[in-house]
Amino acid sequence: MIIFGLEGTAWNLSAALVDEQGVIYEKSATYTPAKGGIHPREAAQHHAEYMAKVVGEVLAHSRQQGLKIDAVAFSQGPGLGPCLRTVATAARTLSLRFAVPLVGVNHCVAHIEVGKWQSGAHDPAVIYVSGANSQVLALRQGHYRIFGETLDISVGNAIDKFARSVGLAHPGGPKVEELARESKQYIPLPYTVKGMDLSFSGLSTAATEAAKKYDLNDVCYSLQETAFAMLVEVTERAMAHAEKREAMLVGGVGANKRLGEMLNIMCEERGARFFLPPRQFMGDNGSMIAYTGLIMLKSGATTPLAESKVRPGYRTDDVTVTWA
Ligand code: AMP
Ligand code: MG
Repeated sequence: MIIFGLEGTAWNLSAALVDEQGVIYEKSATYTPAKGGIHPREAAQHHAEYMAKVVGEVLAHSRQQGLKIDAVAFSQGPGLGPCLRTVATAARTLSLRFAVPLVGVNHCVAHIEVGKWQSGAHDPAVIYVSGANSQVLALRQGHYRIFGETLDISVGNAIDKFARSVGLAHPGGPKVEELARESKQYIPLPYTVKGMDLSFSGLSTAATEAAKKYDLNDVCYSLQETAFAMLVEVTERAMAHAEKREAMLVGGVGANKRLGEMLNIMCEERGARFFLPPRQFMGDNGSMIAYTGLIMLKSGATTPLAESKVRPGYRTDDVTVTWA
């Protein structure tokens, strides 16, 4: 079974073909804001501009190889409204053109499923940290239950905002990680865990303030240490509560080596296993949508045209996991 998948919830327009064995082909086009953060309408314009090129290249590959596409999967949400609409329109067109089912995929669930597929995790507590989301989840009774999440902005957004405030280009995550490696001096910053939930907004602002007084490397280091310790604390409690023996890190911020290292230490201390999918599957990608579409389709889940409306606020725990 071969599925065509289309992602474009925010910065990355990405189309892919996958089958059970792996990724057959993937092509992406990245939107990089000229200044500031992601502008939803500009990002959507970017996706519209590159749609024919990205989709066309993947379809050309399938033609050359004589492949038959069995379904079209697309990111139905959550994400930026204008971006989602651009992607959904293209996906509907392709589904009609090839006369194959459409599968609307929850973007967050796709991060989790591709992570399990690529890392070999079986039933993990999941730390999902990206530019828009920060959630700690685990599968229980047919849903990815959210054990803890951010009450304001995501950890990726907190780092990116801080980075912009000190003049680093978007996305700031990788640059902050690099600078943090040059420091070992911790500057106390606000650590905010409320029950199982997290707050990163005040931390981001405090880091911006600290950067006016302290060495930038030290502030980057302290921001990471504080934010990641918060995530590790909540993950450990979720693992204890849900009785999970595995943890898996997914989402763009998961590319951060220090976060992986901290989660790994926590898992070792509890005799649990830590899973980190390959980097190419961490940030938004078309393969994760195609793969999730594949396992959804195999379980009989498809999306009729009439139900293919985009869902900007689509919650991870809204999805009934029919394929586990
Ligand atoms: P996503 O929304 O899942 O595609 O992830 C994008 C987010 O990942 C942005 O906020 C980036 O700053 C962040 N990111 C990417 N690489 C790193 C890194 N090495 N360390 C921290 N954050 C990162
Ligand atoms: Mg994402």
